[in-house]
Amino acid sequence: MTFEYLNLHPQILKNIAAQGYVTPTPIQMQAVPLIDGRRDVLGIARTGSGKTASYVWPILDYRLTKRPTPPGRHPKVLVLVPTRELAVQVSEVFKTFAVGLPQDIMVMAVYGGVSINPQMKNLYGVDILVATPGRLLDLKRSSAVEISMVETLVLDEADKMLNLGFQSEMAEIFRLLPKRRQNLLFSATLNEELEGIKKVLLVNPTVIKIGESSTPKEDNPINLSGYFVSDDRKGPLLRHLIRDQEMKQVLVFTSSAKTADKVAHKLSKNGIDAKSIHGKKSQGARQSSLNAFKAGNLRVLVSTDLISRGIDIDDLPYVINYELPRSPKDFVHRVGRTGRADARGMAITFVTRQETHHFKVILKKMQRYMDMIDSDDLEF
Ligand code: ADP
Ligand code: MG
Repeated sequence: MTFEYLNLHPQILKNIAAQGYVTPTPIQMQAVPLIDGRRDVLGIARTGSGKTASYVWPILDYRLTKRPTPPGRHPKVLVLVPTRELAVQVSEVFKTFAVGLPQDIMVMAVYGGVSINPQMKNLYGVDILVATPGRLLDLKRSSAVEISMVETLVLDEADKMLNLGFQSEMAEIFRLLPKRRQNLLFSATLNEELEGIKKVLLVNPTVIKIGESSTPKEDNPINLSGYFVSDDRKGPLLRHLIRDQEMKQVLVFTSSAKTADKVAHKLSKNGIDAKSIHGKKSQGARQSSLNAFKAGNLRVLVSTDLISRGIDIDDLPYVINYELPRSPKDFVHRVGRTGRADARGMAITFVTRQETHHFKVILKKMQRYMDMIDSDDLEF
């Protein structure tokens, strides 16, 4: 199928072609017409399957059918995301596809960790606002933004947004939003039974569920493998793998900021270009490390789960779990940073003997099998 069937504005189609996309992905084929038709949608599809564009295109298309209203501080579209880096990325996708449209559609990302004043100033006239919940509420409290005229609400990484961690902020945001609105929820790990969803999606939503988590191994673009390794041999094993497999770009996940720093430091000391990224770094440092890594100018990025969700790195070949995540969901998102779009990827997981049970639970939830190598049999 080609993009013509999606009935999008010719300039949006032109912008899609400029990206080199040949066919819509399954979630795009199903979600675009429904969203254009103003339905509530619950979109569940694997990591890297193009969920962002599946809401960006019809949202832009719909804006073009509306007469522009006088500029103010009341965006018509609100996209909520869990991290600052994802807010930046999603706003960039909107901007990419809004190029050359017959109406100027203003897109802006707001998030914490940076000065609020420029955001307050620049919010005037914004049509599409991408935000993290905390900063959105701060801006609302300073009367820099009004969300009572939002026509479309998007929760990207919806399960995370409806999770305990965002509960009180989200409750406040829902109170400020108009009752009548379009709701769009997307995630790779969303359960349609999730309690919060019935509260959020008021008008009988259409559920789109692409594929099962039990994608057979041959069809799954992410190759999983693992090593049994003791804690004290993890560092040497990591360096061995990076050198031996000549990894040029690898994303390493740890479970704490402290370990992330330690691992990055040790790699650098051994001549492997590495930086860490986590919640204790300044926003400037976070974004510049991520940008360098995305651009292929940084060999290793060591991260906590901070960037496990949504972050899109073109053709990232390797993900390494230096430590296991607590939840199977986090595992899915971490390994989902590779094998995106049409690319294939390798995800390598380090497991200590003490973690065998927890590791089995993760595999069972994912309905995947993993070839394990005992690192005791390796010399490095
Ligand atoms: P998801 O949100 O489902 O994890 P993204 O929306 O971040 O995935 O998209 C993953 C990657 O796929 C991005 O790099 C994006 O540019 C690319 N992409 C999106 N749609 C298409 C398409 N129709 N054809 C080819 N690549 C696409
Ligand atoms: Mg996404």
